[in-house]
Order: sequence, then C-alpha cells, then structure tokens
Amino acid sequence: MIIFGTRGVKSTLAQGNFVCPQCATSEAYKHKKVTKFFTLYFIPVIPLGRMGEYVECQRCRGTFVTRVLEYDPDSARNEFQSIYEKAMRHTMAMIVLADGEIDDNELKVVLEIINKFGHKDMTMGELVAYIFEVQRNPENIDTYLRKVTPSLNEHGKEMIIKCAIAVAAADGQVDQSEILSIKEMATAMEMSAMHLKGILSEMTEKQTSFSTN
Ligand SMILES: [Zn+2]
Repeated sequence: MIIFGTRGVKSTLAQGNFVCPQCATSEAYKHKKVTKFFTLYFIPVIPLGRMGEYVECQRCRGTFVTRVLEYDPDSARNEFQSIYEKAMRHTMAMIVLADGEIDDNELKVVLEIINKFGHKDMTMGELVAYIFEVQRNPENIDTYLRKVTPSLNEHGKEMIIKCAIAVAAADGQVDQSEILSIKEMATAMEMSAMHLKGILSEMTEKQTSFSTN
C-alpha cells in the first residue's frame, strides 16, 4: 500500500526586526511561507504551490500578515507631525485674517512659531504668500479643524489653541473676532469650554495687554 497525501511545509524566507503589533516593541521576526507538498509516506516530495505567507514574531509567536513589515514608526510619527504642523500653520493664518487686517507683529509671531515647532523653515515672503493663499480660498475654521482633529492628540490640540492665542495677542490686543475664532476652534476640536478657559487664563497671566472688550 502506498501512503500519499499533501502537507503544508513552512520555510523561512527572511528574518529581521520589526515592530510587533502585539508586543508593540521592536522584535525579531521570521517571514515564513507555507508550501503545499505532495507527500509520499509522509515525506514531502513534490512542491504543489504556495499556500501562504506570514510573519511570525519570535517573542510572542504571534503571526501576522506580511504587511506588518511595512509599518515604519518613524514615518507614522512624521505623518502625524506634518498634519499637526499643517493644522497649526493653517489655524494661525486664519487667526491673522480673523480681524480683517494682516498685522506685521502677528506675522512675526506666526513665523517665529512655525520655525520653532516646524521642521521646514519658512521665510516671511513664503508666509505672506501662504496667508494670501488662505485668504483667497477661505475655509471655515470649524470645517477645517473637524477634518484634521481625528489626527491630533490632546497636546496637539492645546498647542494649536495656544499658538492661535499668541498670534491673536501679537498686535497688542485680542479682539472679539479673534476670541470667537479661538472658541470656534476649541469647539471644532471637541475641547471643553473649561479646558479652553484654563488655557486662556494660563496664557493671559503672561499677556498684560489682553483685552476681551
Ligand atoms: Zn510579538
């Protein structure tokens, strides 16, 4: 009697380190493939084709789709950073435009903030061009922030509000229109009124010429 059948045989295609979704740390992995073999007396003799591939964490032994190897924590962080920086820049431009005039001191503060937090240095000329661009294509602050809020963490939201207040105060006083815009921003980012009040009072302690009319 001849005993034959098929069996999946695992082999390692590659190995290295990856960020294991289960361990959430960098761990050794083995990228394995499973090949279906025709077996004779339980011995795999003829490969019949690939059954599948997977990535196995050598620490927790969890198995994952090969796509996990593409996850790059640095680029994920960069993506967050760029959304955050873009949101910060955009909201500051909106605050500059909120009181109807583009003030030099406001521009200086915006540029200072962008170049302090951002990774891409901006010149005053580029900033002015950017603000005109925002002015030409006005988008409601609420609409804009609702789009980006899911990508922001609490710290990011707070920084956006703080930067907006700093810009609003740059021309010597915070106008009613600017206060309204900041309140609108906080609401759009689902920040509580109490939280906003806390940030405002924390910042106004440092601003002597803060006026709410
Ligand atoms: Zn693991």
